[in-house]
Amino acid sequence: MSNLLDGIRTIRDLPIDNKRTFIRVDFNVPMEDGVITDDLRIREALPTIKHALERESRVILGSHMGRPKPGKDNSKYSLEACGIRLAELLDAEVHMPDDCFGDAAKKVIFDLRAGQVCLLENLRFHPEEEADDEAFALKLSEMAEVYVNDAFGAVHRAHASVHRMAKFFRDRGCGFLLEKEIAALSKVIGQPERPYVAILGGAKVSDKIAVVETLLKVCDTLVIGGAMANTFLAAKRHNMQASLVEEDKLALARTILEKADAAKVEVDLPIDVVVASSTQAEEGQVVAINAVPSGKMALDIGPKSIERFSKHFGSAKTIFWNGPMGLFERAPFSNGTFGVARAMASSSAFTVVGGGDSAAAVHAAGDGLAAKMSHISTGGGASLELIEGRKLPGVEVLRG
Ligand code: ADP
Ligand code: MG
Repeated sequence: MSNLLDGIRTIRDLPIDNKRTFIRVDFNVPMEDGVITDDLRIREALPTIKHALERESRVILGSHMGRPKPGKDNSKYSLEACGIRLAELLDAEVHMPDDCFGDAAKKVIFDLRAGQVCLLENLRFHPEEEADDEAFALKLSEMAEVYVNDAFGAVHRAHASVHRMAKFFRDRGCGFLLEKEIAALSKVIGQPERPYVAILGGAKVSDKIAVVETLLKVCDTLVIGGAMANTFLAAKRHNMQASLVEEDKLALARTILEKADAAKVEVDLPIDVVVASSTQAEEGQVVAINAVPSGKMALDIGPKSIERFSKHFGSAKTIFWNGPMGLFERAPFSNGTFGVARAMASSSAFTVVGGGDSAAAVHAAGDGLAAKMSHISTGGGASLELIEGRKLPGVEVLRG
């Protein structure tokens, strides 16, 4: 596979000194009642922003937030709280025009001095953003001299600020976060060091067909847990009782197992599971995979499976993980996911976590596990599309 970063300049190589530099960031952080509940995405953008400020850029930040609806009260999607948080993190003033273009924004931008930063209001307040609209992109581009994309979480979308806008710049490239994400994720589908263990879980086989297909071509061992494993276990004629099973994907699961066999990829499935009568149950019961009681559903992998899965990590040189091992959002069903995260974090392999819920699970596991992973992707959908081998419009447009 050719290197996805080939032909793309990074902010290091771009002539940003003293220039008006537009940086597309992903400040689409989780919020509750106007308060940011996790500022990770803002902190991940800091190296690029600081680098631009140190080189005396006049920094214009643009981002989306949530899914504003035309004609509705969208005030909860304002980026104001992000601007305030960024100002604290940078210990500097962040100018915030109340729109992403127009006279007020222009005034703020053209008044910026070298080493100063402004954050435009939510780009999705204009439907033209999601429509990849040419005129809108042109208007945005007129405010800056250099274009930098550091919004990995948005590069799988052909939206104006990630795609069309970049075409108006001769000097365009990626920021440090985008570079780091692509480098780490390409490594697990390119030439990984072996043995390579891929561990998949999550809600559905159907969401991950292309991911499985890609991984089968490169990994040595494929470990499957979570609700996804139920379908594979059912395909192997285990009675999963009330568990989530995609009945219409049983044939697909069998085909995947055959392909794995042909590719000499070892597939490992749970040998025990934690079952309960409902997802709301206060506790679960550990049973062997061939003894799921009638009326019960598998909501986590059991302790023997955690141990067995973790053994693969001992000798692994590369580990990629996508998809929780169970309903980790509920404490009685979180041991499998957190146990696998712990084992992966303590391995000396190059460890990469992709997928929105998987990244959230590693952070929720605590114990400083997140810091021990080689890379946790900040882009849920984007990380999976990259693994699937799909072209990312926001990356392709930066080439050349
Ligand atoms: P990611 O976002 O990391 O790609 P997915 O979206 O595929 O992961 O799946 C995450 C969801 O799958 C979580 O909400 C988790 O609770 C759910 N899940 C995993 N295993 C089970 C299970 N056995 N039963 C019900 N839900 C499960
Ligand atoms: Mg998800």
